[in-house]
Parts: sequence; structure tokens; C-alpha cells
Amino acid sequence: MVRKVRPEPLVFSPQGEGAASGRVGERPLAKYNGAVKAIAKARPEPGVDIIDIREPELKSGHVKIRVEKGSVCGTDLHIYSWDRWAQGRIHPPRVIGHEFCGTVVEVAPDVTSHQVGDFVASESHIVCGQCKQCLAGQAHVCINTVILGVDIDGGFGPYASLPAQNARIIPAEVPREVASMLDALGNAVHTAMSGPIEGRSVLITGMGPIGLFSVGICRVLGAEKIYATEVSPYRIALAEQMGADVVLNPAQEDVPAALRRLESHGVDATLEMSGHPSALSLAVDHTRPGGRVSLLGVYPENSEPIDINAVIFKGLQVQGVVGRQLWQTWDQMIDLLVNRGLDIRPVITHQRGFDEVQAAMESLRAGQAGKIVLDFAGAA
Ligand SMILES: [Zn+2]
Ligand SMILES: [Zn+2]
Repeated sequence: MVRKVRPEPLVFSPQGEGAASGRVGERPLAKYNGAVKAIAKARPEPGVDIIDIREPELKSGHVKIRVEKGSVCGTDLHIYSWDRWAQGRIHPPRVIGHEFCGTVVEVAPDVTSHQVGDFVASESHIVCGQCKQCLAGQAHVCINTVILGVDIDGGFGPYASLPAQNARIIPAEVPREVASMLDALGNAVHTAMSGPIEGRSVLITGMGPIGLFSVGICRVLGAEKIYATEVSPYRIALAEQMGADVVLNPAQEDVPAALRRLESHGVDATLEMSGHPSALSLAVDHTRPGGRVSLLGVYPENSEPIDINAVIFKGLQVQGVVGRQLWQTWDQMIDLLVNRGLDIRPVITHQRGFDEVQAAMESLRAGQAGKIVLDFAGAA
């Protein structure tokens, strides 16, 4: 039996077109009766809208938070662009946003873990707690996972109601803008800490935000050498700021030759963050025998040719990484931030008001941003 996590549908009313018909997308809409603004995929087409909604109702087992800051993710960009994945997965109207932080303003009577005033950050994967994976401590691959801002309404509005365990209590010394993206940072922590890093040489392919976070994580974990690959000059500069020893640019140099020169026996671990097929081959070719290849980047095609016999004869440990281990990754992440000096703020290149979401999406699409934080102070 799967615990029901789908909240009552919010009452939507888009501004402008569509309001007259009372319908947008697939679900009927009530007339305007909400007093707060939220960022939503209101129509099954490219773009996002700022719409008026009611405050979400508090359900049993949930806490309601006043959202302070949200962070725009690659997933949000897929939804904004309305690509094939988004069209198959998102049912408008849907409030988007799965990376956010805020303060608890209401606690359901059956919740004992939280108090009004707690500062929390979102874990976007709502898991069932009852499937074989959940019972085995592998809730990050729960077969009944429901994702905030994708399958149900998310947190890009002034208020969000979510299951108490998905609102992680965060120490006050973690800056608000950092707390807004712990869901994403957790992907990097999970990947990097899936094997030993201290004293190891590490190759990190792809300097998107998760790759950039991984550089910082490997640095504070005591990696001996950190090699990165990236084509965008903007992101190469960020990788250097985050502590990469060498950043190789496949558009400008022969990266395999450079890696043979720098690490003739191969690196101890490769963290593949790019989803680029050439990086997958690079990982297999340049990880030392017995080393680890951790794959987080998602590839455009489901089948990619790799030298599978090299994987076997080199005895590589190849692992897929998804989400965050619940809740070990969160504990590791808070330790890195509070006790180990992990500072991801160089990756946060823009902070904007929530009503500037379109501009934020466009600068992400142009590759001219690291992480963008939206402020929801004015949304209520
Ligand atoms: Zn995300
Ligand atoms: Zn489960």
C-alpha cells in the first residue's frame, strides 16, 4: 500500500490569456481567488508563468513553510523549455521548484519532529517508506518516488506544504542562498562520497553546477589532485575558483593525451557529471585498474558504445548515482558545510527576485550562469 502524498489540487488562475475559459492545460481552474504568486508551468507549451494561487493547505504529516529562497535547476530548465521529457512527465498547471529553503510557519498536529520557526531546506524526493528499497535503507531508489515541483506542486511560491521529513532542519549558520540548493548539492555529495576521495586523484567531467560542487567537495575531502573537463570558458573560470588543479578543455586540446601525460596510470576515481558520450569513454580509458567510475550525468540516448571489456579487465567499479541517500547524504552534506569549510558560494553567480524567473532561465540556457537563486520575499 502506497502512502498517498498527492496534496489537494491548488486553485489556479492564470493572469491574462486562458483565464476567461477557466481552463489552462488539463485541469479545470477556478476563478481568481488566490492572494499569493507562484511560478508555474501553466500551459503545455514553452515558458513559465507567474500565477495567483491560494496558500497550500496543511495536511497531516506535513509542515508548511514560508519559502525564502529557491534555486533554479536543470530540471526546471527542461520544464521551461518544454522538451520531450517535460511533455511526457509534467501535467500543467504545476507549481515548479524543488530546490528551496524557508522557515516553518505551521506544523500538522501529528508531526513531532518540527517546530514553528525551524529553518529548513527541501529534499525533493518524497518516498513511500514501504517498498523493498525503502525498507532496505535505499530510499533514494524508492519505486514510488514522487518529486516536488515535477509530479506534485513545488516550492516556487511564498508557501509550500511538504512531508515533514522532506523539510530538513538546517543549522542557522548555513547561508540562505546555499540552503536553497542543498537538494542539488546532495547529488554531488552522494556521487563524490560513494567511494574514497582523501589522497586520491579525481577526474570530474563536466563543470555544470553539480560538477562544480564536486570540485569543492573533493577539495575539502583531501583529494590529492583534481582534474576537470569543461568547454565553456565561463565555467572553466568557476572550476578554477572552486579548487580544480587542472581544467582541460576538449574544444581546445587533446584531453586523452593530456591525461596520459598527467596521470600515466589513470586516476583513482572519475565522477562523470556531463552526460556527454565522450566523457563516458574518457572515464573508462583514464580511470586506473581497480578504480571507480561514478556516473551522475544523464545521456541523451539510452545506449552508448563503451569498451565493456576494458571495464571488465580493468576491474572498474562502475556505479550509477541518483538522488541523495536518505538520510546519510544530508548528514554528510551538513558536516561538510558546517565543520569542513565547504563553500559553494562561487557557484552562485546570480540572485534575483522571483519575478525575474524568465531572465534566469534564459541566462542558464545560454550557459552564462552557475546557480541562480530566486528570492520569494515579495511573493506573498
Ligand atoms: Zn534540482
Ligand atoms: Zn519506497
